[in-house]
Amino acid sequence: MPDLVLRDVNLPDGRGPVDIAIAGSHITEVAPEIAAQGTAELNLAGRLVTPPFVDAHFHMDATLSLGMPRLNRSGTLLEGIALWGELRPSLKHEGLVERALRYCDLAVSRGLLAIRSHVDVSDPRLVTAEALIEVRERVRHYLDLQLVAFPQDGYFRAPKARAALERALDMGLDVIGGIPHFERTSADGAASVAELCRIAAERGLPVDMHCDESDDPMSRHVETLAMETIRNGLQGRVAGSHLTSMHSMDNYYVSKLIPLMVEAQLHVIANPLINISLQGRHDTYPKRRGLTRVPELMEAGLTVAFGHDCVMDPWYSMGSGDMLEVAQMGVHVAQMTSVIARQQAFDAVTTNPARIMGLQGYGIAPGCRADLVVLQARDPLEAIRLRARRLYVIRAGRIIAETEPEITRLSLPDRGAELDASLIVPPAD
Ligand SMILES: [Zn+2]
Repeated sequence: MPDLVLRDVNLPDGRGPVDIAIAGSHITEVAPEIAAQGTAELNLAGRLVTPPFVDAHFHMDATLSLGMPRLNRSGTLLEGIALWGELRPSLKHEGLVERALRYCDLAVSRGLLAIRSHVDVSDPRLVTAEALIEVRERVRHYLDLQLVAFPQDGYFRAPKARAALERALDMGLDVIGGIPHFERTSADGAASVAELCRIAAERGLPVDMHCDESDDPMSRHVETLAMETIRNGLQGRVAGSHLTSMHSMDNYYVSKLIPLMVEAQLHVIANPLINISLQGRHDTYPKRRGLTRVPELMEAGLTVAFGHDCVMDPWYSMGSGDMLEVAQMGVHVAQMTSVIARQQAFDAVTTNPARIMGLQGYGIAPGCRADLVVLQARDPLEAIRLRARRLYVIRAGRIIAETEPEITRLSLPDRGAELDASLIVPPAD
C-alpha cells in the first residue's frame, strides 16, 4: 500500500492527468489511475506537479548580508566586489551559518531543494568554507547543497588564493571554481583555467567557473575552458557560469566557438536577474542585455541552466529564492517566447541544473526519490507567468512545506466572490 498518493496532477512534460504513488521515500508508480489507496491522499484537481527547483549558481556565503557594512551606492558589479572585500574580514562563523540556514528555509518554502553555491576562499581563514560545510551537513535531509571553491579575488591575482583553494578542497568542498576574466591579464586568465582544470582532473572533481562575466567581446576564456576540458578528459563535468561576453562577441567567432563547446560538452549557467542588471553598465544607449546566447546554446544541444546567483547581498539587493522569478526574467531577456522555448525555460530551472549538478534519483518516474512540488498552476508556462505558489513541497515522501493557495475575496456587483488567478484563462467563446 502506498504511503501517499497524489491524484489528478499534470506533469511538466505535458503528461496528465495522472496519479503518483509514493512508498517510503520513493515514487513507485506514475499512471493515469492508480487503484491502490494511499495511507494519505492529496486530490489536486489538475495542479502541476514538478520535481523540485534547482539553482546551479548561487552565493550562500554572501546572501542576506545586504547593508553590511554599507549599501552598494552605485549598484555596479565592481563596487559589489569591492564591498564584499570590505565585509569579508569581519565575517564570523555563526553569522554565516545563520544567514545560510535562513536562506535555506526560504528556498524550501519555494520548492528549491538543490543549490550549488560558490564559496569565496580568498580569505585564508576559510571561515566561509567552514561555515558552509556545517550548513551542508545540517540541511542535507531536506536540501542538496554543493559547494564550489571559488577564488573571488583571482586565482593568481590574490597572493594566497592558490594555497587557500587547495586547503578548501582538502576540507571537502565539492567543485573547483575560478574567475579567469578577473585575473590581471588574459594570459593569466588562460593559465588559471589550465591549472584549475588540471587540479580537477587530478582530484576527480567537477569544475564550475565564473567565466567572461563581462561585456568585453574579447573576453574569450570560455574557449580555453572548453579546450582544457577536452585536454583533461573532463567532458560533461565542466560548467561555464555567466559567459556574458558571448552576448557581445562577433558572430563569426561564435560560429567556431559553439561547436568547440559542444565537443567539450560544456554546461552553461546564465543568471538572468543579475546579468540584466549588472551588464551593459559602460554603455549609454543602446544598452546591451549582457545575457549569454541561451537559445542558440540550447539549440546546439548544450545543457543550459538559469541560476539565481544573488539574493540581498553586495551585488543584488533583491531576489526571493524563487526560481520561477529567475525563469520569468530569462524568458524575457532571452526572448524565449516560442512554444518550445517556454518549456525550455522551465527545464532551465529544474531538469537542466539537476543534470549539471549530477543529482541522483531526480525526476518523476518509478524509482526516483519522491521529491516533488505541487504548484498553484496547471502547466509550466502558467507557473512561470504567475510565479505560482508552492502548495506542497515534498522531500523523500514527506511534506516539508505547505502554503495556502492564493485566493482573493472580491466584493463586486454581479461577479464571483473569490478569485484564483490560476483559473483566469481565455474563455472558450
Ligand atoms: Zn556568481
